[in-house]
Amino acid sequence: MAEARIELGAGAVVFREGDPPTSAFLIESGEVELVSGSGPTQVRLGRLGPGDLLGEMAVIDAASRTATARAVSPCVLIPVARDQLQERIDGADPVVRALLRGQLQRYRSALHRLRGLEGPAPGDDPAALAAARVEDGGALDKIRLETQLRAALENGGLEVRYQPILEIASGRIAGYEALVRWEHPERGVVSPAEFIRIAEETSLIVPVGHHVFEAACAALAALGPASDLPFVAVNVSARQLAEVDVVATVADCATRAGIPPSAIKIEITESLTLDVEAVAALIARAHARGIKVALDDFGTGFSNLGHLHRLRFDTVKLDQGFVRQMLEAPRCHAIVQAITTMVAALDADMVAEGVETAGQLEALRALGCRYAQGWLIGKAEPASAMLPARR
Ligand code: C2E
Ligand code: MG
Ligand code: MG
Repeated sequence: MAEARIELGAGAVVFREGDPPTSAFLIESGEVELVSGSGPTQVRLGRLGPGDLLGEMAVIDAASRTATARAVSPCVLIPVARDQLQERIDGADPVVRALLRGQLQRYRSALHRLRGLEGPAPGDDPAALAAARVEDGGALDKIRLETQLRAALENGGLEVRYQPILEIASGRIAGYEALVRWEHPERGVVSPAEFIRIAEETSLIVPVGHHVFEAACAALAALGPASDLPFVAVNVSARQLAEVDVVATVADCATRAGIPPSAIKIEITESLTLDVEAVAALIARAHARGIKVALDDFGTGFSNLGHLHRLRFDTVKLDQGFVRQMLEAPRCHAIVQAITTMVAALDADMVAEGVETAGQLEALRALGCRYAQGWLIGKAEPASAMLPARR
């Protein structure tokens, strides 16, 4: 069994240069000196004390020890097993892993040169380095895309398009969903499914979301008299909810554009409803300002009915997967029917997403679904294609 605590007297060696990496150590008390090399090329790397981590480098990259560690005074050390660190490194952001690996490699070769040594530094295994470069390349591609997205945001490279939402019974376009598009200089149009995920990993989603709110409000303001406005639904992701007061931001954008905040609807996906308290608070704040809230992509994720009864969504958007199969699969049709009834009983409106055929629209009409969205009704188009008023 691994020791939970190691006590060493002054002068005792913790590990020697060249040793294989067994574990790292957390210094509880005492001081440890790190020395690399011997004779004229010896380099004193420094002293570590209580609270410092010792010998983690070799453990991280599995190369041999680059220095000898010796207790300067009586010491108490807590061993830290390799997988304790490895698990955390594996779970870290790939960009952070790439940075760590780069720093370690640079440290090892700098130390090697400082000691006047020739040839490859420990850890310079060409095959391992090549594999790491491939992994780091993926992480750096992401950074590149992030930088380009930031530039697009500043230079007007993000366009917001509006997909019409049909009120089935009346045949009028009741509203639109704002969907962001990125015209990439080399790659053409990048799907939001890809770049929203990257934006969500950083706080970039906040200004991207803000841009969408402002564009949606400006598009509505350009339509004319406020009493006749269709609604525009904007998508909001987890990080936006955590980092900004989305309701206040949306209401503020609307007021500045001179449109009623009630013309904006907030869409959040099912996975976000896991934090019931936060979403309940969001809905309450939105309702206080007359803003409606929709549950997006219902049926794909958790579909927790407990959440549905506690959260007063105004609209439930049924994921397009159901609509796609409802005419071919009787069991799927039965699910759509049951969800339509349930949503109506909860006093919410239903939007069926991904309606592509007249047959699907008729089936939804027969079930009493209120709204339909999909290519049959229209694709996402520039703001200039929006209808000025509800008809
Ligand atoms: P979503 O909110 O569920 O949006 C509906 C997606 O379905 C859109 O994809 C739309 O173009 C697509 N769609 C609509 N009708 C049809 C149809 O009849 N058939 C098929 N096959 N697809 C249809 P899009 O624009 O690629 O957006 C993907 C997702 O990216 C959105 O899913 C939304 O979750 C996210 N997204 C888009 N814009 C924003 C944004 O401004 N902010 C945030 N946070 N997320 C956004
Ligand atoms: Mg949506
Ligand atoms: Mg959706």
